[in-house]
Amino acid sequence: MGSPLRIYFSKSYALAAGLETVTKSAHVAAAITAEPALGVELVPPAPATREELKAIHAPAYLKEVFAVAPGQLATGPRTAALRTSLLASAGGMRAAVAEALRAGRSGSLSSGLHHARRDSGQGFCTLNGLALGALRALEDVSSVGILDLDAHFGGGTFDILGEHPQVRLADVSVNDYDDWQPTSPARHHVELVGDPTDYLAATERALRTLVGVRCLLYNAGMDVHENAGGIKGLTTEVVRRREALVFDWARRQQVPIAFALAGGYAWSGLTLPQIAQLHLETVRACAVA
Ligand SMILES: [Zn+2]
Repeated sequence: MGSPLRIYFSKSYALAAGLETVTKSAHVAAAITAEPALGVELVPPAPATREELKAIHAPAYLKEVFAVAPGQLATGPRTAALRTSLLASAGGMRAAVAEALRAGRSGSLSSGLHHARRDSGQGFCTLNGLALGALRALEDVSSVGILDLDAHFGGGTFDILGEHPQVRLADVSVNDYDDWQPTSPARHHVELVGDPTDYLAATERALRTLVGVRCLLYNAGMDVHENAGGIKGLTTEVVRRREALVFDWARRQQVPIAFALAGGYAWSGLTLPQIAQLHLETVRACAVA
């Protein structure tokens, strides 16, 4: 085996109890630790700072996020512990992108990113670590792509980076929540899939629109799975093949890739440790890439 695959995680990610987008990361970390053959090293990232978040969020919104005011915010941090989790998770995406640019591949056990807008949180997302990571990539390379295969659309990412000329967005969903209208045929690809037998072809169509980007961020939601929030017929085998498609593509295109966990929920029939096993498919595909 070559050098270890560095994936970002610290106990801070999972500090706030009761919110799956936060607590799930610890289950995925445990599943990774239980498989040493993967060759993964879990690395704690530097948390995102208020200063760097100004590049993606409005000052007034950050003021709310950084105020410890329990109960005041609809979707923002209600406790200091939750804020610590969110800053670790967002910082992890920035760190994973930097590592991918160095080593070719990385990831962060981050969730709850892509619905967060410039001036508000939405849908369990407070800080848009994908946008933060994309801007980190542009410090080193001329173009970046964000492939969003979460079950829901990433309207927050579009809100922040949709007009950025160096950012390409490819968003394939199985649910129309948080959908967005492309404004650039060259940089925007959106597809809602209703037929599970078309899902892998839709993934390939999305990847084709990203040919030429110099770095890829991959929002690898498992909530497309039929038992994790998705649609009937999207089985473990389909998500396994999806992950192989994405990481094989990145390897063939020689594009550095950094993944985030994104969605995948225990209210649809699976336990959190079972959801963690689905996310392990992403880690496995990344580890062999
Ligand atoms: Zn989702």
